Amino acid sequence: MVEKIKTIKGMHDILPQDISLWQHLEATSSKVFSAYGYTEIRTPVLEKTALFVHSIGESTDIVEKEMYAFEDRGGEHIALRPEGTAGVVRAAIENGLLYGQPQRLWYRGAMFRRERPQRGRTRQFHQIGIEVFGLSGPDIDAEIILMGQRLWQSLGLTGLRLEINSLGSSAERADYRGKLVTYLELRFAELDEDSQRRLKRNPLRILDTKNPKTRELLKDAPVLQDSFGTDSRNYMDKLLTTLDSMGVCYTVNPFLVRGLDYYSQTVFEWITDELGAQGTICAGGRYDGLVEQRSGKPWPGIGFAMGEERLVELLKLQSAGSTRSADVFFVLMGKGTELAGLKIAEQLRTEIPGLRLQSNMGGGSFKSQFKRADRSGAEYALILAEGELDSASITIKPLRGQGEQVNMPQSELSTWLKKHFE
Ligand code: ATP
Ligand code: MG
Repeated sequence: MVEKIKTIKGMHDILPQDISLWQHLEATSSKVFSAYGYTEIRTPVLEKTALFVHSIGESTDIVEKEMYAFEDRGGEHIALRPEGTAGVVRAAIENGLLYGQPQRLWYRGAMFRRERPQRGRTRQFHQIGIEVFGLSGPDIDAEIILMGQRLWQSLGLTGLRLEINSLGSSAERADYRGKLVTYLELRFAELDEDSQRRLKRNPLRILDTKNPKTRELLKDAPVLQDSFGTDSRNYMDKLLTTLDSMGVCYTVNPFLVRGLDYYSQTVFEWITDELGAQGTICAGGRYDGLVEQRSGKPWPGIGFAMGEERLVELLKLQSAGSTRSADVFFVLMGKGTELAGLKIAEQLRTEIPGLRLQSNMGGGSFKSQFKRADRSGAEYALILAEGELDSASITIKPLRGQGEQVNMPQSELSTWLKKHFE
């Protein structure tokens, strides 16, 4: 018996039937980002463990329990990246990208976190994200939100809601932390276990709890915005009025937080109600302290990251995007049609660059060729039969919906297809 080796728990193959949705998502994202002047950056999947420990923070779930970190054969401590920001910041510092002008970057790739696999939560997952360095906002904060909104529109996604909060400055958060801890210490016994632990290490993250009882307790807790000075207050006002002027809908959620000290001012999430508990498809925020922490040089930063698995599932649920792998399937019937068809197909691919044309290979009856045509998902069958070789004509048959079959001179074919597929 041969032992069957399967994928690692929580890791998945992305199969051909889904690939066009992934490609649609990736192509649309890169198009939208470049419309705002962003360029792509690619960083290694493996980095030194210390990079993530210092950038993401020791008291985060990722570093405490989710990271795939190990010693390599040379005894070096390395880890599979659990997110993209740390590597992009490292790359920007290491390659001198932070001098002079601001940088607008985007990235895409596999990320790894050893969490409990469930719907919308896998151990290898994929993110598309952006990072902007050198712009202190809030104008750019508004623009990246608009860019997100344009992306959902371009993808054909609907029903996403935007939640926004402001974390103020680190001094304001320190002040608030004191007030929150005092409030919660008086109610320590009523807190869930996780929150009790967090109260010492990272009390702000308690605001993010999913525990209903703790949430109830938080309703009367002091609010962060009450600790804000004029600067932070103005910053948030300016961002929200810009969004109002641009017709962006949002809700301010005072419980939306990031646990780390280098975050400041704006944080936001795009959320859908259609994916169950894992409804956040995009999360972002300003991290003005991160570059300074890593390089000693103050340099503002803001970014967001989207979960591709969740977006692809949503595209499927909303039937947005196409799952077809071909536009046209070429049926070739009878003697001499294989070579003639090969020539026609090659010429069509030259004349209509975006066209997805799948030719029948290996012969077969009309019936079996049409079965393949149907399976390809193509909208039209192109049919070349032996009898059409002399007259140089060709037939097009719609495969979905109504529509008549048409016969035309081969010389008119590319004009006809261009009209349908460009
Ligand atoms: P969550 O609260 O869902 O754990 P997070 O705060 O850990 O999210 P981020 O680190 O902000 O998530 O990542 C940004 C996005 O990446 C998330 O909103 C989500 O869409 C996606 N994502 C994060 N972790 C996973 C995962 N394990 N599987 C699939 N997608 C994920
Ligand atoms: Mg998480």
